[in-house]
This record gives sequence, structure tokens and C-alpha cells, in this order.
Amino acid sequence: MVSTNKPTILVTGGAGYIGSHAVLSLQQAGYTVIVLDNLVYGHRELVEEVLKAELIVGEIGDRPFLDQLFASRAIDAVMHFAAYAYVGESVQDPAKYYRNNVVGTLTLLEAMQAAGVNKLVFSSTCATYGIPDVVPIPEDYPQNPINPYGATKLMIERVLKDFSAAYGLKSVIFRYFNAAGADPGGRLGEDHNPETHLIPLILQTALGLREAIQVFGTDYPTPDGTCIRDYIHVTDLAAAHVLGLEYLLKGGDSSIFNLGNGSGFSVNEVIEAARRITGRPILVKESDRRPGDPPALIGSADRARQILGWQPQYSSIDDIISHAWNWHLKRHGAQLVVSQPGEAVN
Ligand code: UDP
Repeated sequence: MVSTNKPTILVTGGAGYIGSHAVLSLQQAGYTVIVLDNLVYGHRELVEEVLKAELIVGEIGDRPFLDQLFASRAIDAVMHFAAYAYVGESVQDPAKYYRNNVVGTLTLLEAMQAAGVNKLVFSSTCATYGIPDVVPIPEDYPQNPINPYGATKLMIERVLKDFSAAYGLKSVIFRYFNAAGADPGGRLGEDHNPETHLIPLILQTALGLREAIQVFGTDYPTPDGTCIRDYIHVTDLAAAHVLGLEYLLKGGDSSIFNLGNGSGFSVNEVIEAARRITGRPILVKESDRRPGDPPALIGSADRARQILGWQPQYSSIDDIISHAWNWHLKRHGAQLVVSQPGEAVN
């Protein structure tokens, strides 16, 4: 890792999908990174072997542990990704979500306050908007989440607003649209278990690991009847986090930013792009709508562009899918050779 005088950043959830990409971007910008992760969904080897960052295994809700961590290390700011993020599970088991996401974050914020650490970059989500009736959605659009996952994120946003006013804890809140893609260098990628997201499921189908991709609903009020989403490359998200951190380090006030491309693709368009990029047949199974899916979610990220100078580098769906495909080929290479011998890979 680069030796530097730059600040030390604690990244909670740094062994997860978006967190690990943020760690890489921070390292590339010269920061020292400490990862805190409970490894329930995170991947130890990504932190230790790929990123070669320090990994501390623990819970964000464990106050004595956090007090010890902040006392033993000079931490200048926190990037907080650690959260449970399965919408369906949050409906089935909301207690798990309120305890980990809300109570856990509150504990982390109190520990930061006690330790005098007063800068935080926080992962929020477009799920806090619920079912919007305008696109692209600006940051001041009313928030009305329709599932416990979105509600937990909105609650934390409120806590951060109040902590900023009362205690001077400055935060940058990022509301992500659909994080997708993988590190263009092939070092990191998306590896959820269970996997519920569209692009990895399509690519697993292309690899022969699944028989078909289910399309959840073909009767939406969209041009081809399938849902439209704003897919944003995970490396562009990571870059925004470094800019958000630098904004706070320079004394910026608490602020909220959407992160999206400002344009959307339907489920059918994503499948078609994946067929083109992978050169594989991808079988589709049309299914019922998934409860709670808005027809179209597209974010306006003008604020992030104007205030942070953020400029997405990989905004084409082809880049997003190509990088994800490279990662999937690497991750599942063995199965690929067995299941579909002799086919070209790109
Ligand atoms: N989707 C789908 N089949 C799947 C998974 C997702 O048709 O197996 C659709 C889903 O209904 C939504 C879009 O793909 O319209 C993106 O879903 P994802 O779970 O990736 O992200 P979300 O928009 O829920 O955050």
C-alpha cells in the first residue's frame, strides 16, 4: 500500500461489494484504510489478499469494541457501508434490519462522537424515495419508503441531520441508484450470497449456472413492459465517495447527493445487452411482478456533478456489463469450462 501522510479512514462494510470498491479507490488516492466488517456477507480474502488492507472483524453495534478501536487508532473519518440490504428479507425479518442498520449505526455514531471523529460518508439508497411519480428524481423529492430496508436508511438520514445540527457531526449522504459492474481491473466484483440482483443473475445464466433469468413483470407502464432502472458503475460510486470525503475534509457542510447516471434501461434491454456482450444465449422466463418494484427509478445526480465535480467514467451499460462479465468469468471460471466448453469469451 502507498505510504502517505493523508488521513486514515475507517471503512465499515469494506469487505462487501460497494465498500470494497471504495477501499480500492481510497487506496489509489493515497489514503490509509482500516476495514471494519462482521464478515456475515463480506469476503475476507478480498480485503486481505486483494486489497491488502487491515481488516478488523467486529460489529458496528458493539460499543465497547468500537470505543477500543477508536482509542487505539488515529481515525480521521468514517465511510459507513455496513448494513443488511435484502429488501425481501427486511419485510420478513424487520427486527434484524432495524437492529443492525439503525441501532448499529446509532452506536457507531455515538462512538465516533465520543472519540471526536466528526466526519462520515454514508451509503443511503433510492429505496428511501419509495414509488416516485417523476423521473429523474431530485434529492428534494419526498421520501416515502415502502419496505423496512428503505425505512432503516431514511431513519439514519434523519439521525445524521440531527447529529449534524446538535453535535457538529458532518456527513455526506449518498443515495445510490442501482449499483452494478465491477472493478475494470478485474480485482473486485459483485458476489452476494444469496444473489438477488438483476445483472449478476443474468450473467450466472450466461455462464450456465442458472437455467433462465426470471423477468419480474412484463406489464409495467414502460415502453417494453419491463421495469426501468438507473444502473451506475460501482467504480463511479467509489470515486464519488472519495470526492465526498474530500469535500468533508475541506470543511464542507453536511449534504445529500443522488448517485446515478440520469438514464435508465429496462430489464429486457439489460438482458439484450448481456447477450451481445457475452455472446451467450440467455434464456428468459417471464414471471409475475415482484412486490414493491416501482416501474421506473432514475436519479438526477446534477448536485453531485456540480458540488463534488463528480463525473461518471463508465456510464454505458456495455461497460457496466463487460466489467461484471469479466469478474464472473474469473470468479466462476471452472464451472464455465465444464458447462460450456469451447465457447469464446471476451
Ligand atoms: N429483476 C428481474 N429478475 C431478477 C432480478 C431482478 O426481473 O431475477 C428486475 C427487478 O424487478 C427490477 C430490476 O430487475 O425491476 C432490478 O432489480 P435488482 O434486484 O437488481 O435491483 P433493485 O432495483 O431491486 O434495487
